[in-house]
Amino acid sequence: MSTEKRSAPIRPDVIPRIESSRELEQVVVGRPTSDGAGVKLTRVLTQNLQKRLDPFLMLDEFGSEEASDYVGGFPDHPHRGFETVTYMLNGRMRHRDSVGNSGLLTNGGVQWMTAGRGIIHSEMPEQEDGLMRGFQLWVNLPAKNKMTAPGYQDLPSAAIPEVLLGDADTSTLVRVIAGAFAGVAGAVQRPDTEPLYLDVHLPAGASIDIPIAASHNAFLYPYEGELTVGALARPLHKRQMGILNSQATSSGVRVTAVASSRFILVAGKPLREPITQYGPFVMNTPGEIEQAIRDFQSGKLAI
Ligand code: MN
Repeated sequence: MSTEKRSAPIRPDVIPRIESSRELEQVVVGRPTSDGAGVKLTRVLTQNLQKRLDPFLMLDEFGSEEASDYVGGFPDHPHRGFETVTYMLNGRMRHRDSVGNSGLLTNGGVQWMTAGRGIIHSEMPEQEDGLMRGFQLWVNLPAKNKMTAPGYQDLPSAAIPEVLLGDADTSTLVRVIAGAFAGVAGAVQRPDTEPLYLDVHLPAGASIDIPIAASHNAFLYPYEGELTVGALARPLHKRQMGILNSQATSSGVRVTAVASSRFILVAGKPLREPITQYGPFVMNTPGEIEQAIRDFQSGKLAI
């Protein structure tokens, strides 16, 4: 267990303002599914959106107070060719992998795992009751790094910088998981895909301007409350992913909370390379997928 103490939220010198907001291009409702040993989850970003949301490959939301929905966890399974990012809002999950790493992911913490050429790991709950809630996002690796050495970063909640905007009672809190916001660098920086991953807590009636590079693909996903995006009055409800349009003239997005809300915002630089996925392997060509399957079957995926 980490004993690291959180430092106070940062009050930025300059609050970001954008001139022209991106708008909602598409609203996607996740579909219930199960994975691992029967863990119930909602798959929000599915394979048909991988090209549109390049470099992001998948987003799952999990959330239940019923132990039977999660207690089976994700026993040993392989990955190759991309990164998995687990953000635990509530709960405790133990990670063990073929590299010899072990870590405990707890409330507000993040695990950023680079599968690279191959890893076999398990993700198992360390709780038998209570709420387990969070997200797993898959971020692609560029072709040149798909066979890199595996690695991971365990980031306890206290390691994630928090930015506070507004007055004490009506404050907006931004947890900067990756990238940067208001001049505050996030806990993780990745080359090539330059991901921005924010968790924003926005009080009812408040707005926030979030700068996003015009060339990057972006989406947001409220997990509590209700939002509007840009100039559109159409609300984005809890459990709806809003894909933001791309326009060269826009420097970001303005989000307004209709009700007290929490949402994640994810953006990244597209790789524009061919994507071939077979379950837990994401490569550029079918031949590379066949190789991954052969390596896994012969025990050479994770050595
Ligand atoms: Mn996994």
